[in-house]
Amino acid sequence: MNRVQREFTELLNSKVDFFGFVNVRDYCSAARNEENWIDPFDLIAEPKTIVVIGVKTVDELLKRPGKNVAWHNITINIKLNQVLYDLSRFLSKKGFQVFPHFTINQNYTPPKWQDIARDVMPSKIIAKIAGIGSIGRNNLFIHKEFGAGVRLTALTTSAEFNWVHKVYENLCNSCGLCINMCPAGALTEKGYDPERCWQFLYKLQKTWGYAGCGNCMLACGRKRNNS
Ligand code: SF4
Ligand code: SF4
Repeated sequence: MNRVQREFTELLNSKVDFFGFVNVRDYCSAARNEENWIDPFDLIAEPKTIVVIGVKTVDELLKRPGKNVAWHNITINIKLNQVLYDLSRFLSKKGFQVFPHFTINQNYTPPKWQDIARDVMPSKIIAKIAGIGSIGRNNLFIHKEFGAGVRLTALTTSAEFNWVHKVYENLCNSCGLCINMCPAGALTEKGYDPERCWQFLYKLQKTWGYAGCGNCMLACGRKRNNS
């Protein structure tokens, strides 16, 4: 590990609960056919690494779909954006190109939702390639230690970081708990229906001004550790 990576890793350890590095070529071959594919070569001239970062959610604040879940998510997004800013500043000062994937605040107003979904870097796939978890039936990233109760974002940089990829492990045991707990019927044996999920959230948003739902996160207790 070179000096820049060591300093960068120390910074990451002080600011987030977990992180991973993915070589841009590995990301391109794994994610090119995804619906929300974003080409890192469109973001900076010489992309080398995508850094995925994540923080744990607070279960207690996710218990009732509505305004509190929305503010919980918005607050985490702001925290992640601040971390992205600090990481970008560090890398930029060292002379590297950087593109932070700032997280958006939730807005479920149609017909914008498809555009918003398309505009987000597929952090779940990046985290999966980094070997730190898998994607469950609930369409969420399941971290190997913290389960589905996490939020992610990513940063693309010209810095080249080494990372030992772990062997991929499917952490979803198909227990079906997330399907049972989804109030919108958006999770079924066939998979995730974003339209149903977002329609449910849009209804909540019309009532409260803000909307969030964490039932599918809460349901997935697989390898949870909220210490
Ligand atoms: S709740 Fe069960 S089926 Fe749903 S993602 Fe988690 S492990 Fe998979
Ligand atoms: S998939 Fe279901 S449980 Fe998950 S956020 Fe959407 S409505 Fe809530």
